[in-house]
Amino acid sequence: MVDELFEVFEDLFERRGKKKKDKKAQGNEAAVAAPPPAPPIHCISCGARNEGAAKFCLECGELLPSPGEEFRCVKCETTLPLKAKFCPRCGARAG
Ligand SMILES: [Zn+2]
Ligand SMILES: [Zn+2]
Repeated sequence: MVDELFEVFEDLFERRGKKKKDKKAQGNEAAVAAPPPAPPIHCISCGARNEGAAKFCLECGELLPSPGEEFRCVKCETTLPLKAKFCPRCGARAG
């Protein structure tokens, strides 16, 4: 019985030590792992390539289309923001 108790205690201490180590390792992994990159967005005004997370064009300040706030041109399938009235590529009326 006593031996068993000791074994249980040893096991507990071992687990605690491992847990601490695991936590540290996980933290490092999380810091290294980058979030999945969002697809780049091309400005409808000047065509500049912007990061997927960008909301405004880095070149001209135009509001960029963001997921859920965009639609595609019926003619050329260019992605347009909801406020667009005409497609900048082909001139088709949008909306
Ligand atoms: Zn732009
Ligand atoms: Zn178009």
